[in-house]
Amino acid sequence: MVLNIKRASSLDGATVNVQDVLKPFDHQVGGHTPFTSLPNGHLLKPCDEREIYFYQKMPKIIKSIAPLCCSTIQGSSVTTFDDSCLNCRQHQLENVVIPESIEGSPILNKRKLSKNFIVLSDLTYRMKSPRILDLKLGTRQHGDRATVAKIACMTAKCQSTTSASLGIRLCGMKCPPSESKNQVSISKYEGRAMDKMELFLAIRQFFNVPEVVLEVAQRKLLAIRDVLEKANGVRLFGASLLIVIESDPLESTPIDNLVRIKVVDFANATFDGFQGDNFYEGSDEGSILGLETLLGIIGHQA
Ligand SMILES: [Zn+2]
Repeated sequence: MVLNIKRASSLDGATVNVQDVLKPFDHQVGGHTPFTSLPNGHLLKPCDEREIYFYQKMPKIIKSIAPLCCSTIQGSSVTTFDDSCLNCRQHQLENVVIPESIEGSPILNKRKLSKNFIVLSDLTYRMKSPRILDLKLGTRQHGDRATVAKIACMTAKCQSTTSASLGIRLCGMKCPPSESKNQVSISKYEGRAMDKMELFLAIRQFFNVPEVVLEVAQRKLLAIRDVLEKANGVRLFGASLLIVIESDPLESTPIDNLVRIKVVDFANATFDGFQGDNFYEGSDEGSILGLETLLGIIGHQA
């Protein structure tokens, strides 16, 4: 199956034949939908319509902690956002044919064969040797529209893991090999089986980085916590905190750019009755608990 996609919006500049530039994405650690790499630091993520709408309507305050979304692809139409990066405004996707797989790696979610994609900024872009940590955030993961069976399943998963008590659960972790250590790789299944102490140890291992780098991570996590405290009515059900740290930096790279942290996966997130969901008051305490837990583990005295 292929998708024939024609662009919907038109801006001046060159067009890009997408099938010529797609590559499997090497640095994915969490989630079940494979991402595909596009040029200039972008990823193609298969998603459902709801997540597309969420990116289209996302409150400004959440935009500041989410990856930049440059365009959405829905069946046959490509929409490039006004606030997309310069590259995306100048190099429009045109007559895109997205193949089912690329170099043996699937692009379309096999279960859903989704025709919806979002083009997101890649947090690992230009990193030589990234450490990657995906932590599922919050104490509740199901959206308001979940079925009774789904609610029961997701609630049980939260209760039987560190999610319910700590507001985070390890969903994937990769640390590249170093001179003294082998590569570390932890799957979401191993993350689900972790107790509090095992989670603490894994996170401590991930943040075993130079003090100056750790300080940048602490500062960025505090900033995200502050945003969540101000984000009234937002609920990040099922979202993850994605943390990427360069372990083999060039001397010329600014310290600030060695640590990239964003909130990702908004398929079940909601705000202000989005798509007919419930209205919620105040901030998302479950996600804030997760940030507090993480800040506590990496030694920040709040
Ligand atoms: Zn872009």
